[in-house]
Amino acid sequence: MTAAMSYDEPAAAPQNLPLPLAARRDRAVRAAVARGLVSEAEPVVGLLDVAGIRESAGALRAAFDEVVAPGTPVLHSFAVKAAALVPVLRLLADEGLGAEVASPGELELARAADVPPERTVLDSPAKTAAELRGALALGIAVNADNPEELARIDALVRSAPTPSTVGIRVNPQVGGGSIGAMSTATATSKFGVTLQDEGARDWLVRAYLDRPWLTALHTHTGSQGVPLPLMAAGVRAAYELAEEINAAAGRRQVTTLDIGGGLPVNFDSDETTPSFADYARLLRREVPGLFDGRYALITEFGRSLLAKNGLVLARVEYAKSAGGRPIAVTHAGVQVAVRTVFAPDSWPLRVAAYDAQGHPGTGTPVTQDVAGPCCFAGDLVARARELPPLAAGDHVALLDTGAYYFSNPFSYNSLPRPAVHGFTTTPDEVHFAQARAAQTLPEIVTESGGPHSTALTTLG
Ligand SMILES: *Cc1c(COP(=O)(O)O)cnc(C)c1O
Repeated sequence: MTAAMSYDEPAAAPQNLPLPLAARRDRAVRAAVARGLVSEAEPVVGLLDVAGIRESAGALRAAFDEVVAPGTPVLHSFAVKAAALVPVLRLLADEGLGAEVASPGELELARAADVPPERTVLDSPAKTAAELRGALALGIAVNADNPEELARIDALVRSAPTPSTVGIRVNPQVGGGSIGAMSTATATSKFGVTLQDEGARDWLVRAYLDRPWLTALHTHTGSQGVPLPLMAAGVRAAYELAEEINAAAGRRQVTTLDIGGGLPVNFDSDETTPSFADYARLLRREVPGLFDGRYALITEFGRSLLAKNGLVLARVEYAKSAGGRPIAVTHAGVQVAVRTVFAPDSWPLRVAAYDAQGHPGTGTPVTQDVAGPCCFAGDLVARARELPPLAAGDHVALLDTGAYYFSNPFSYNSLPRPAVHGFTTTPDEVHFAQARAAQTLPEIVTESGGPHSTALTTLG
């Protein structure tokens, strides 16, 4: 249904090659409709392409295998916030990935997925003393965000030795990308210890020299919208600081560099650009010493591993028009696409039209809005978009939503969190497995204070 695919034309490929991403997606949509995974009772679901996730994980491993000296330890930890689902973490662990966590909840998900502590990294700007104590006891890698947190870690390390790799997150202050909220390396970002403020560099070098157990250095320049050269500049700044610390220490004290995540995703087409290989090769050119085997490496990619491997599929409930503009009122709105609805210019999504049976829409495109079910006027996932005419009972798919969409719901209007199903395709069949059940009405009542219904009237 689109000319841009990440594979060669299937006609030129042997029969046993996997189907291209778009073909797999169309088959999954058709099968999901036919089997009632999306229905009147559950009018919106998330779908995850399991083979696609494995391919993305494989591409990440291969990209770094290509640039590192043989034998260099590399831990690819998946940023859990991008798809906070235990079966996804388990699938990625099966592909050799670890987990980057930023809260007690995310850590618990990683543990439920059997991600070992030594393959888990804790980054958060607001870790409590109890969280730090727990992580250091378990042997989870910890990156201190600021001097006060480092002082807490000092006390914990004094009271009990830890198997954890401990580092400091630095803000290289190399500048922002096209989305302010995603840019973590501006002069005033809330994350990490700044590198360029007056006295900061000297403080950092001293902090390491005073603490022989501080052996890692972490940076994450930002997420979607940060251009590759800026990401590489951030990594280079962290690398140069590690070299300076090691020179001052007269030994290789910093042995692990955590270079963060942030590879941007192309939301315009089915092409995966830039690729993990593009980024790894750029890093090899810009920071060659990073890969010569002296440093163990940690990465923390999220969006780039999952985005293209998931979609939100929703029924069109009504088709209407206002002011001459057709509007498809669907069940996919702000509850599954919070960033797209509130910041549409930063987070535009492709929308694909499917008919009532789940076949790709074929009508002559008309300009229309695609609205969600929520009670505010801005609940639109696409404005003035050219799409085949949509009618009640048809379906829409929000593409490239495998990361940060259906796994990060917004409970507006008490709409349920939708079910998520993983799928695989063979030439003859589509197989599904439920990765998360839809939230039920009793669950919504319970989490909305149902068990405390008389708490306020009986307060006295
Ligand atoms: C969010 C985050 C990531 C992942 O970013 P992506 O853009 O999803 O790759 C990695 N590291 C840290 C510290 C983060 O906050």
